[in-house]
Amino acid sequence: MEKHQGKSVFAGVAIGKISFYIKDKAEVVKREADDQQLEIELFKNAKKQAKEQLGQLYEKALSEVGMDNARIFQAHSMILNDEEYDTFIIDAIKEQNVHAEFAVSMAGEHFAKIFSSMEDDYFKERAADIKDVSGRVQRILGGRKETSKTSEPAIIVAEDLTPSETIQMDKSKVLAFVTMLGSANSHTAILSKTMNIPALVGVEIKKEWDGKVAIVDGITGDFYIEPDENTLEYFRRKKQEETKKRELYNELKGKENITLSGKQIELCANIGNVADLEAVVENDAGGIGLFRSEFLYLGKNDYPTEEEQFEAYKKAAETMAGKPVIIRTLDIGADKQIDYFQMEKEDNPAMGYRAIRICLKEKDIFKTQLRAILRAGAYGNVSIMYPMIISDLEIKEIKELVETVKGELLKEKIPFGNVAQGIMIETPAAAIISDLLAKEVDFFSIGTNDLTQYTLAIDRQNNKLDSFYDAHHESILRLIKMVVNNGHKAGIKVGICGELAADLSLTETFLKMGVDELSVSPAFILPIRKVIREIL
Ligand code: PEP
Ligand code: MG
Repeated sequence: MEKHQGKSVFAGVAIGKISFYIKDKAEVVKREADDQQLEIELFKNAKKQAKEQLGQLYEKALSEVGMDNARIFQAHSMILNDEEYDTFIIDAIKEQNVHAEFAVSMAGEHFAKIFSSMEDDYFKERAADIKDVSGRVQRILGGRKETSKTSEPAIIVAEDLTPSETIQMDKSKVLAFVTMLGSANSHTAILSKTMNIPALVGVEIKKEWDGKVAIVDGITGDFYIEPDENTLEYFRRKKQEETKKRELYNELKGKENITLSGKQIELCANIGNVADLEAVVENDAGGIGLFRSEFLYLGKNDYPTEEEQFEAYKKAAETMAGKPVIIRTLDIGADKQIDYFQMEKEDNPAMGYRAIRICLKEKDIFKTQLRAILRAGAYGNVSIMYPMIISDLEIKEIKELVETVKGELLKEKIPFGNVAQGIMIETPAAAIISDLLAKEVDFFSIGTNDLTQYTLAIDRQNNKLDSFYDAHHESILRLIKMVVNNGHKAGIKVGICGELAADLSLTETFLKMGVDELSVSPAFILPIRKVIREIL
C-alpha cells in the first residue's frame, strides 16, 4: 500500500480503480517521416485497430445504453472509411514528409474546421466527431491508452484538468478527481464541488497507478494506492457513515432557512450546466443564484447558438418553477479558455481580456446570449447578472444594449420576460463604488473567489499560493459588509455566490451582516440549512 497526501478540494470518500487521464489533445510534435511507406503502413494499421475498437464499443453500447447512443460509434467508423480523409493523410505523409501521427492530427484539424464553418447545426457537430476519431487513431499511433468515455466508474488521476476537460466528463463515470496541478480555488475545483465529486489537488502522481485500486479521502486529503484489507474496510465503513449523514440532511428538505430567533436567509445553488439541475432540486435549493453560462461555451467546437442557449436557460427556468434563476453572462478568459474564440495569449490573463470586457467588444456574441436569456425569461423567474464589472459606465452600456435587444425581439414578435439585471461584485473597484453601482442595478451578488484574488493580489490558479489565499482576511469581510450596507441603502438585495458562501464557519457572520442570499454548490445547501437552524 502507498499513501500520498494532497489538498482536499471537496470532501467525500471514493473507492475504486484509477484511470490515468491522458489529454485527448496530446500535443503531437511535428516530425519528419524517416520512411514514408512505413508511416503509411502504420496509419493503415492504426486505422484498422481503431475500427476494431469502435466495433467493440458499438456492441457494448448497444447492449448497455441502446441503439440511439450506440450509433455514434458507427458514425466514427464511417469517418475512417472515408476516402477523402484517407487521401488527406496519405498525401500529407508523402508530400509534406510528416510522420503518421502528425498527418492524422492535421486531418482532424482540417476537416473539423470545414464542418464547424457550416451553417447546419448537424454538420457543425460532426466537427467534434472528426476530432474524436482522429484522436483515437493518434492515440493508437502514439501507443497511448484511451481514456474511455464508456469505461467503468473510476478515480480520475491527471497531471492537470482544465474546466473544459472536466465539464465534458460523464459524471456517472467519475468517482473522484486527483490531480498534481490545479489550485483549490480554480474553476476545475469548483466544478468538482458542483458535480458533488471528491477531489484532491497537489498529489505527486505516477502513470503506473493506472488500473490499480485506490481510496480518496476528501476530508484529510489522503490518497491510498493498493490499500490493504484493513484500510479498505475502514473506508467502506466511512462511506456508509457518509451516506447516513446525507440521509439525516435529507430530513431538512422542505424546511425553512431560519435561525432560532427567526432570522431568515435564502439558500440558492450554483450550477454550470442543465445536468446540474437534478442536484439543485434534489438538495431543495431556493433557486439558482449563479448559472455559470460559460460552461455552455466550453468543450465545444463553436459558439452555442441562440436556440441552444435558449433551451438551456428555459429548462432551468421551467425546472425551478417560479423560483429565481440568475444567469450570469459569459465569463471566459483566465483559466476558462475556448479554442474557437482564438484569444491572444496574455501575460496576465486573470487581469486581462475577459468576461464583460469581451462581451462589450464582441457585441454580436453578447447580443445572442442576451436574446436567449430574455426569451427564457418568459418561462420563469429569470434574472441576468454581469461579471467583472468595474464601473457604472459599463452598466449603462450594457443596459442600452439590453434595450436594443428587447426592441429587436418586440419587432420580431418573439416573446420575452421581464428580467431583472444585477451585477457581480468581484473586483475591489466594484466593492468600493458599490454605493454608486447600487443605483444602476436590481441586485448584487458578491463573487468572493475573484474578490479575494484581486484584493489580496493572489492568483487563484496558483496552487503554491493556496496557503496565502485567505478569504477570511479582514479586508474581504469589510468589503462584504460595505457592499451589503450600500446595497441595502439603495433598497436592493445582496447575495454571495463565491465559494466563501459555503463556509460554515462564516454562516453566522453573514447572517449578522444582513446578507440576503447565499448561493453554493448544491451539496452544501442542506449542511448550511442545518447550521442556520441551530443559530440563536
Ligand atoms: C467569483 O469570482 O466568486 C465567482 C462566483 O465567479 P467565478 O468563480 O466563476 O469566477
Ligand atoms: Mg468570478
